[in-house]
Amino acid sequence: MSTSVLVINCGSSSIKYALVSEHRKDRIFGLAENLGSANARIKGITTGGEELELSIPHADHEKALETILERLAHHNPQAIGHRVVHGGTLTKAELLTPEIIERIREATPLAPLHNPAHLVGIEATMRLFPHLPQVAVFDTAFHQTMPAHAYRYALPKFLYTEHNVRRYGFHGTSHAYVSERGSELAGSYKKGGWLTAHLGNGSSTCAIWNGQSVDTSMGLTPLEGVVMGTRSGDVDPSIHSFLASNLGWDIYKIDKMLNSQSGLLGLSDLSNDMRTLIEASEQGNEDATLAIEVFCYRLAKSLAGLSCGLPRIDGLFFTGGIGENSAYIREKTVAYLPHFGFNLSQEQNNSLKRGTEGRIDAGTGPQIWVVPTDEEGRIAKETEHVALQEGNVTAKKSNAETVTA
Ligand code: ADP
Repeated sequence: MSTSVLVINCGSSSIKYALVSEHRKDRIFGLAENLGSANARIKGITTGGEELELSIPHADHEKALETILERLAHHNPQAIGHRVVHGGTLTKAELLTPEIIERIREATPLAPLHNPAHLVGIEATMRLFPHLPQVAVFDTAFHQTMPAHAYRYALPKFLYTEHNVRRYGFHGTSHAYVSERGSELAGSYKKGGWLTAHLGNGSSTCAIWNGQSVDTSMGLTPLEGVVMGTRSGDVDPSIHSFLASNLGWDIYKIDKMLNSQSGLLGLSDLSNDMRTLIEASEQGNEDATLAIEVFCYRLAKSLAGLSCGLPRIDGLFFTGGIGENSAYIREKTVAYLPHFGFNLSQEQNNSLKRGTEGRIDAGTGPQIWVVPTDEEGRIAKETEHVALQEGNVTAKKSNAETVTA
């Protein structure tokens, strides 16, 4: 690869990485997992398509990042792009400076599981590679164009003004990429009104008008919205007092239940994995059948609700592991939206190959497309844009001294 960007997504015990070439055609992917344990290892795919597995016993984030960069150094990465879940009110990708790092730290109460892990990775790469410009790309940034009537909760005002309690939205990198690419495929690049359904383990929907997010299903945290693998999505907030009063549960137990034991897993009592549920449903498992039905109905309801943010609906884009691969879920969801004039072509829906983009409506009504997401590509593009401007590279070099001091 000539020039490239290294994209890093740090979790609490794992690091996903991707080296993305200048025109985003070539990729080297990998995952460092089980960090901090005897089983720590790096698994990946090289540019030649060969599988890589490397044991790095007891390696922490810094050691793993060092090993990853050693292996990739000959590809000459020009910049590092960090995926950061919560950017608070930051509206765009930012060059990492002590001030931006502080803003990420300040947003930690809003993403207590994600932002601390990102900061560990950021601080390690800043120490290891002070000469490389580094950029944070936020999941929340794309949704900062939402109007106040979409992002405010009907709660006492001081919770917003003094404690930043509002709707932020997530999966912004995916919604931004998919709506941009989808509208381009539809011949109206960043124009018109579109709905996106990002359906993976975490799922969310978004309404986009002329390329800008005007509303989305996730809120203060990624728990609000549609049914997900293990997250409940919308529930009556009084569930907390009901469970506390009647079952004696504390806030941590309730939070864990809503985030890790609900959604498809909770409804089916079987699995959070949509493929497993579709197979079980075909074999007559009624709980799996109901879980799928609730998933599709709530998803359609969310899309219908978000349509209020759009002056008109030009179409719908499906993406994420479920949205890209399951013709069955797409068909069931669209079947709940006939009043919008959506008209799915069963033939095109069923014939679309895995991982390919394509139009699946019958030619009347709003368009329906499958657009495989490319979060790494989008992060690399934004990183290139921010970091590789000469002024920023210079700024980065002087900031590096402050950060590493
Ligand atoms: P993540 O949010 O972790 O990135 P993915 O976007 O990879 O997750 O999506 C994972 C989900 O996609 C799982 O529920 C998986 O079962 C589902 N999935 C993948 N392939 C299919 C398929 N062919 N049919 C139905 N669901 C699928």
